[in-house]
Amino acid sequence: MAERITGHTELIGLMAYPIRHSSSPAMHNEAFAYLGLDYAYLAFEVDNDTLEDAVKGIRALKLVGSNVSMPNKTVVGKYLDELSPAAELCGAVNTIVNDNGKLIGHITDGTGFMMALKDNNIDVIGKKMTIAGCGGAATAIEIQAALDGVKEISIFNIRDKFWEVGEETVRKINEKTDCKATLYDFDDKDVLRREIESSYLLTNATGMGMKPLEGQTWLPDTSYLRPDLIVADTVYAPPKTRFLEMAEEVGCKKMNGFGMMLFQGAAGFKLWTGHDMPIDHMKEVLGISYD
Ligand code: NAD
Repeated sequence: MAERITGHTELIGLMAYPIRHSSSPAMHNEAFAYLGLDYAYLAFEVDNDTLEDAVKGIRALKLVGSNVSMPNKTVVGKYLDELSPAAELCGAVNTIVNDNGKLIGHITDGTGFMMALKDNNIDVIGKKMTIAGCGGAATAIEIQAALDGVKEISIFNIRDKFWEVGEETVRKINEKTDCKATLYDFDDKDVLRREIESSYLLTNATGMGMKPLEGQTWLPDTSYLRPDLIVADTVYAPPKTRFLEMAEEVGCKKMNGFGMMLFQGAAGFKLWTGHDMPIDHMKEVLGISYD
């Protein structure tokens, strides 16, 4: 008889819509099986209309916790009992931990990015980074980087609906952390060049490079890069964006978005189970390469 799921198996959820395409269930269940942990991870189609009931269900069914993805990340906080400092500052939650009925919201996207840097022996603490983007992924990275001790963050964005989010992120970072953050417009090319020149790390956290903007980048040309600049992309599909191709042409050390994806999961896994995700095994099983 199958023994993987028993009456003792603990459940962890993923609440989002649409969600059937997600690789998170395969990732977490593989890690549970590999480590022999008695948990199961399942995806549930939950949108803003059903979110409150679903969160009540976490308490009622005594789930260990849940991941939360779009469109619920910025909405779920009001149904929880407590937020981590990063979740509070980001105004978003992607991981819920059920601590004996007290639901605590965390955001692990930024942690995931910072852990991926570490896994690549990239140490940005005490240094300056330039990052493109003011959306969900960018905000999580910017806030976590500031909390972790990055000295200075220069943020670039177009003047779309995310510009105001960027202004708010900069305000919060400058008010609540020791990091100095500034928001710039991509149109100021001289400023973009100057900020990249004085940075240790350059990151793309915009949707450019991923469908429907595949093959595109906001970086005007390779003259903005230098061989000792480290270049990271949050995009992992495709694994090598135009942005990373340009970095490769110049000879920069580079990292794609797979690490962020894997380590945001690993951070949740640790919060729920107390165990480290078996990273090398997961990279092998998921076919993850930073190139
Ligand atoms: P979002 O919609 O919240 O933000 C989109 C960002 O892209 C904004 O800053 C916006 O101004 C910018 N943008 C959009 N179109 C642009 C254009 N034509 N030119 C310049 N900038 C443009 O999206 P998000 O969830 O923050 O995702 C952003 C990127 O991060 C995506 O490429 C996504 O693949 C990646 N991401 C990766 C992970 C991971 O685990 N690796 C997780 C989340 C998101």
